[in-house]
Amino acid sequence: MSRRPFVAGNWKMHKTAAEAVAFVDALAGRIPAAVDVAVCAPFTALAETARVAAGSGIAVYAQNMHQAEKGAFTGEVSAAMLLAAGVNGVLVGHSERRQLFGETDAAVNSKVARAHAAGLQVILAVGETAAEREAELTEQVLERQVAAGLEGLDSEQVAATTLAYEPIWAIGTGLTATPQIAQAAHAFIRGRVAELHGVGERVRIQYGGSVKPENAADLFVQPDIDGGLIGGASLEPDDFAAIVAAATQ
Ligand code: PEP
Repeated sequence: MSRRPFVAGNWKMHKTAAEAVAFVDALAGRIPAAVDVAVCAPFTALAETARVAAGSGIAVYAQNMHQAEKGAFTGEVSAAMLLAAGVNGVLVGHSERRQLFGETDAAVNSKVARAHAAGLQVILAVGETAAEREAELTEQVLERQVAAGLEGLDSEQVAATTLAYEPIWAIGTGLTATPQIAQAAHAFIRGRVAELHGVGERVRIQYGGSVKPENAADLFVQPDIDGGLIGGASLEPDDFAAIVAAATQ
């Protein structure tokens, strides 16, 4: 089955609304028809980014949301608020959320379910630490995160979820996984989704971890890699556009 490549930029805590608009203006017009493209913007830039990105082929995602519909959760943002700001989707379970903000598999699962129920697209990030890889626990960790993250979803929701395999040792370190290491992890994840939900061939799996214009094509050409989730190299429109272009090969 052919899956449309999907490349998303995760800006993390970078870019004011004005900087985000300038980025979209620079990227618009450089989106190949064959690739889905998104930027995950900070909350304060979402509404303005969505407004200028409309019709450009650039989807706008939040980097997080709260799992409750509404309530006494000071400082949090709901799915309904994201939708009202014109946002298309949400990145859930990024390793920085898990490691720095204590997000559990259960919380991640609730967020994925709430986002789908609200009609937001979802990128669900999974990945092992360096210590887990060294201890040969990679498959065990991925198995747990994939099973827990997708628990309770129906098969259409699973098929519509984009998974992002992001080995934590490769994020922001310059230590990109080799195409062979990444492909093996992606094939494993796809196999788990097939076994658990029967839609392994439909689900898209992005690779994330120090993807750059120079290494993107070798990663994206792997049979189970359907694009990328890009951190540092998504901050400059030229670099990001080059990575998006690599997904067309
Ligand atoms: C990320 O944070 O999702 C990421 C992949 O970062 P980088 O590309 O900078 O490694």
